[in-house]
Amino acid sequence: MDNQTAAQWENGWLQLCTHLPSPNFAPRSDFSDISIVVIHNISLPPFEYGHGAVQRLFTNQIDQHEEDVFLRSLTALRVSSHFFIERDGKLTQFVSCHDAAFQAGISRFNAREACNDFSIGIELEGCDFEPFTTEQYTQLTLLLKSICCFYPIQAIIGHEHIAPGRKTDPGHYFQWDKLRKENLPIVTDYQWPNAS
Ligand SMILES: [Zn+2]
Repeated sequence: MDNQTAAQWENGWLQLCTHLPSPNFAPRSDFSDISIVVIHNISLPPFEYGHGAVQRLFTNQIDQHEEDVFLRSLTALRVSSHFFIERDGKLTQFVSCHDAAFQAGISRFNAREACNDFSIGIELEGCDFEPFTTEQYTQLTLLLKSICCFYPIQAIIGHEHIAPGRKTDPGHYFQWDKLRKENLPIVTDYQWPNAS
């Protein structure tokens, strides 16, 4: 790691981006164990962008007075992500990478379950049914390069790959090749082992 990359991080927080601390995390037993990055998509209400509802969800600000019925259904949900990249490329961090954000849920990579324990989560504002923006890929690439310099990342993978049958994000429109061209450690052919 070079000095420039080291200066970008402080206690697991990336400097020079918006910080909105979320209470939805668990301490990691060993943050040197961080080895994968999980890519997601999210839009709230579904298929709508720029409402600020994702930021409110991750900081437990959604309540029963929401006008939107779907948002009201999320009142009790306690989830988060380390990072969120909006359609215009704006980057927000909610949880220190030294802690485990509640992002992956029931999941498995190689022989290990519960990927929250050893992963960093990145949510892209979007859905399974339309392309992500150029600004998002630009920001994501910069973020991944910095993460990969600072943490011993072995694989960058989709939520759909570590929770197949349960999750479909980031989905068909996510262009893994854009990241692969940057020599980032993309793993998209991961198959869950048969339970036996
Ligand atoms: Zn997801």
